[in-house]
Amino acid sequence: MTALQLSVVIPVYNEEQGLQALFDRLYPALDKLAISYEVIFVNDGSRDRSAAILREQYQARPDVTRVILFSGNFGQHMAIMAGFEHCRGQRIVTLDADLQNPPEDTGLLLAKMDEGYDYVGSIRRQRNDSWWRHVASRAMNGLRERITRIKMTDQGCMFRAYDRHIIDAINDCKEVSTFIPALAYTFARNPAEVVVGHEERAAGESKYSMYSLIRLNFDLMTSFSLVPLQWFSMTGMLIALGSAGFFILLVLRRLIIGPEAEGLFTLFALMFFLIGMALFGIGLLGEYIGRIYQQVRHRPRYLLEAVLEQQVAEKPKRTRKPKVAEAPTDLFADGEE
Ligand code: UDP
Ligand code: MG
Repeated sequence: MTALQLSVVIPVYNEEQGLQALFDRLYPALDKLAISYEVIFVNDGSRDRSAAILREQYQARPDVTRVILFSGNFGQHMAIMAGFEHCRGQRIVTLDADLQNPPEDTGLLLAKMDEGYDYVGSIRRQRNDSWWRHVASRAMNGLRERITRIKMTDQGCMFRAYDRHIIDAINDCKEVSTFIPALAYTFARNPAEVVVGHEERAAGESKYSMYSLIRLNFDLMTSFSLVPLQWFSMTGMLIALGSAGFFILLVLRRLIIGPEAEGLFTLFALMFFLIGMALFGIGLLGEYIGRIYQQVRHRPRYLLEAVLEQQVAEKPKRTRKPKVAEAPTDLFADGEE
């Protein structure tokens, strides 16, 4: 029996308008690759008909379709995590449900893996999103580049391919707040990137508001770097040194020239700036502490309502930690011959 070659993991949140178009393009594209595959849809607590549509699709193609239904909205990255825990393929591709990533480009990712890479990221050829997403995305890519060791051209694109050993490593992490492309990167031995297409959303609108994008970027920065905290303590030190010098200057001035009375509003401006800095620092600490708090409570990261799948052969063997029990069994069999 040969192992399943490809798992495609797709998070779905309120995508009822676009799902049929996705099925119509995804399955033919995967059939064309002529490899064994499965598609895992993870419904992230959609409030529209998405779950029902996915159930129908499972009934239509139970041989290659598996559906995981969350009992609430736990976020795109948790949905993908659940997909990872259930997938059985030797290679895993993550894809958005909105057809912004053309499923026909899956072959490009796999071809790159054939060259010996275990993690293939993607760069959107021409990004079709609103202008403010472009600007914010460029800024956050630049910031991440500076404060983490993760090298990625386009962190926002989730159309990526991973080797089994990376998924096994990710499954061992029980992170509550995380950013999957970055987490995978830390486990990759030999990462590469390819350019893929990007289209406008086929239907519906982006599920990310400005607010949730900011939250997501905090997850990325705090999960993979302590540099924001370090920058903060360094700035604090510099300001303390500066104010000590300023104080000495004022004392000298008072002794030599006499007391000064003007400059009240300059003082206000300075104070507001410093109070702002201090509040930002407390907030930043809170971002880290809040995540520690969430993590130590050990609550389940997501709740499953149902998993629709056919009972098939068990999951592929782990590539990272080989089971020792297998060798003696073989030896025993040989000895009996
Ligand atoms: N998504 C999800 N849970 C969420 C938000 C989004 O599963 O809470 C899914 C969504 O259905 C889509 C993918 O994540 O398949 C990317 O979302 P979207 O296209 O809205 O993000 P954008 O392309 O605007 O970054
Ligand atoms: Mg999208």
